[in-house]
Amino acid sequence: MIQSSIEFFKNLPAKQCTECGEHIQEQHECYGSKCETCLQITR
Ligand SMILES: [Zn+2]
Repeated sequence: MIQSSIEFFKNLPAKQCTECGEHIQEQHECYGSKCETCLQITR
């Protein structure tokens, strides 16, 4: 059942910003859990 955890992350739905709930594109994984808009506001 080792693969179960891997498959879980692969099958995750689109990420959502923790600030505004906007969907986050997967290519921005390094940004964490915030969308580009909120990241710009934060910075
Ligand atoms: Zn946001």
